[in-house]
Amino acid sequence: MTGGGRLLYTGRMECRLCGAVTAPFIAAPRPYAECPSCGYLQLDEACLPSPERERSRYLLHRNDPADPGYRGWMQRFIDSAVLPWARPGGRALDYGSGPEPLMTRLLADRGFAARAWDPYFAPDQSWREGGWDLVVMHEVAEHLAFPGRAFRELAPLLAPGAAVCVRTRFPPADRAAFASWWYREDITHVGFFPKRSLELAWSALGFSALWDDGIDSVTFGERSGERRG
Ligand SMILES: [Zn+2]
Repeated sequence: MTGGGRLLYTGRMECRLCGAVTAPFIAAPRPYAECPSCGYLQLDEACLPSPERERSRYLLHRNDPADPGYRGWMQRFIDSAVLPWARPGGRALDYGSGPEPLMTRLLADRGFAARAWDPYFAPDQSWREGGWDLVVMHEVAEHLAFPGRAFRELAPLLAPGAAVCVRTRFPPADRAAFASWWYREDITHVGFFPKRSLELAWSALGFSALWDDGIDSVTFGERSGERRG
């Protein structure tokens, strides 16, 4: 997923979420760009990690399904972002499950017909047949090199009345705070979503925000009859 080096020569990059022309800036040691239209902050395309580097980083990830702190952190997300909004017992997709599909198991424990998809660790493409009542993107969106494309692919695969639950840290608005932000240190975190950027992206696909926690979680539901995905 590499783009052309031309992006560096012009100093202009398209927003990989909404397509608008972005404004480049440096947050040492890496170049980024901010979208003036939707607010998405993206790593310069030339710095996107290779698939090999991404995969090896994910295998080192801190997430241990046996760790009660990690499990509880995920369960709290399910309790607040998922259960109040999703159809009970519906078909649930753990999008970008990673090497240990704990979210899939926790959703199954809560009665959902859950399955994982991950480009590296659960690559079966049959999820593209669609009909999902629930899609959970738990700490996934920040890893997507082309999130706008990913969301547009996903929207038509959702069943009527589906819920989309996203957890990704909302970035600090202040540029100095962004420069020292810990969430940026992971080289596979290639884009950061102010809540507004997610709302705009999903709104364009016919979904509106039902709930958010102001920190890292937001749930979208379909506006009836308005789907444009
Ligand atoms: Zn944008």
